[in-house]
Amino acid sequence: MSLSRRRFLTGLAVSPLLMHRPLSADSPPTILIIGAGMAGLAAARSLNDQGLKVTVIEARERIGGRIHTSRVWPELPMDLGASWIHGQRQNPITELAKAAQAKRISTSYDNAELYIDARLKQLGVQGTNETAMEKLVTQALKQAANLATDISLQAAVDRVVNKPLNPAYQAQLNFYLNSTYEQEYSGSTKEISAQTVDDNEEFSGADVLFPQGYAQIPHYLAQGLDLRLGQIVSSIHYGNTGVTVKTQDQTYQADYAIVTLPLGVLKRKTIQFNPPLPPAKQAAIQGLGMGLLNKAYLRFDKVFWPKDLDWLEYLSPDAGRWVEWVSFAKIGAPVLLGFHAAERAREVETWSDQALIADAMQALKAMFGNAIPQPVGAQITRWAQDPFAYGSYSFNAVGSSNQDRQALAKKSGRLYWAGEATHSAYAGTVHGAYLSGTRAAKSLLKIL
Ligand SMILES: Cc1cc2nc3c(=O)[nH]c(=O)nc-3n(C[C@H](O)[C@H](O)[C@H](O)COP(=O)(O)OP(=O)(O)OC[C@H]3O[C@@H](n4cnc5c(N)ncnc54)[C@H](O)[C@@H]3O)c2cc1C
Repeated sequence: MSLSRRRFLTGLAVSPLLMHRPLSADSPPTILIIGAGMAGLAAARSLNDQGLKVTVIEARERIGGRIHTSRVWPELPMDLGASWIHGQRQNPITELAKAAQAKRISTSYDNAELYIDARLKQLGVQGTNETAMEKLVTQALKQAANLATDISLQAAVDRVVNKPLNPAYQAQLNFYLNSTYEQEYSGSTKEISAQTVDDNEEFSGADVLFPQGYAQIPHYLAQGLDLRLGQIVSSIHYGNTGVTVKTQDQTYQADYAIVTLPLGVLKRKTIQFNPPLPPAKQAAIQGLGMGLLNKAYLRFDKVFWPKDLDWLEYLSPDAGRWVEWVSFAKIGAPVLLGFHAAERAREVETWSDQALIADAMQALKAMFGNAIPQPVGAQITRWAQDPFAYGSYSFNAVGSSNQDRQALAKKSGRLYWAGEATHSAYAGTVHGAYLSGTRAAKSLLKIL
């Protein structure tokens, strides 16, 4: 996507509540929006502010979708879905955050400390060997780019390595692949495309999170909208004259609809489309990957780790195990947030909370010694089991590319499409979801 187009879209996104251009028709067209996540709310906001009659249909009893601020610890709101505005400069979410007067604080990967497991220290490991790993993976991706057929990131790396690695080097490589790719894209290195993995864009500037919770942003966008919560869509019929959407107990009719269902939900085929979706869209749904990133918040009665750090990294012989932690000590909370991505996340999602906490404590003891206190509370996500997401966010799986995202975004008759997976440049992010929503609204407005 060219910079000028991106600027244009970003400009469109500024202060949506200020946009007013009521349509002149006596009875304005009616529009259903399926899903009250960032994509759906962005679309609804834009269209509502243009004077159109918009109804948002949402399965959950809350808005925000994969933005979900938990109030289980009332004085410490915790984001179970998205936490950060990734790259706040020119990012449309920054404008929304300013308008919503939502406090933000920055975190930096440069403000991190590495903790090395004793088993690796015994082997002489002193660091992550990042420069060498980066060189290796860059070489692997370069070679894979010249292949006639796409392969996985792991296969690309294996082709370059082409020999058994010693345990220390293997642990460093696993650490690099997990922290740089799996935690970022939420897919496994065995599934991520080597040819299209980097086909996305980023905003510059700091990563910032919301001490009072990301949910402030969807709530700001949703003001005054017609929201129907607890409405689980089961079928969408789209014809020449309109759209009919059925939920467990209601039937909604409108002139047009914007579908923002997560890729994970579309993959499950739990919603019946009539007529069936075009083959290119079905192929895109099948081809793109839906990844998994899970969070575990551990709350302690006091901070036992260095207070001013943002990130704590753990280099261990166990691939993908508690590799990255975020500290909330800076905002006065004795809370650590650990992540699991991809295959490891799928495995630990089946564990009990108790087993997961025990494993986390083992890792933290390896980092800080046996004298650390037990947590006084925990909040653990299981996004793969969430029936209204079935995963965390999309990634380019082997054989898939941004062409699939474009096919997913393409309108089918009276159905318009949005959602993070439909955005080529910023897939897998809140801003990608938001921009996809304003894009769908804009294309619909063009024909009205
Ligand atoms: C753990 C995690 C961490 C993340 N971290 C970040 C981050 O730090 N920064 C960032 O930018 N992005 C992050 N993301 C990604 C970001 O949250 C998503 O890209 C974005 O929120 C997706 O918005 P969306 O509107 O496309 O989809 P959603 O938010 O999923 O909205 C779709 C809506 O459709 C609803 N729905 C589903 N099925 C039905 C049905 N049958 N009937 C009616 N409604 C239905 C859902 O309930 C949902 O509300 C993270 C995601 C996760 C899971």
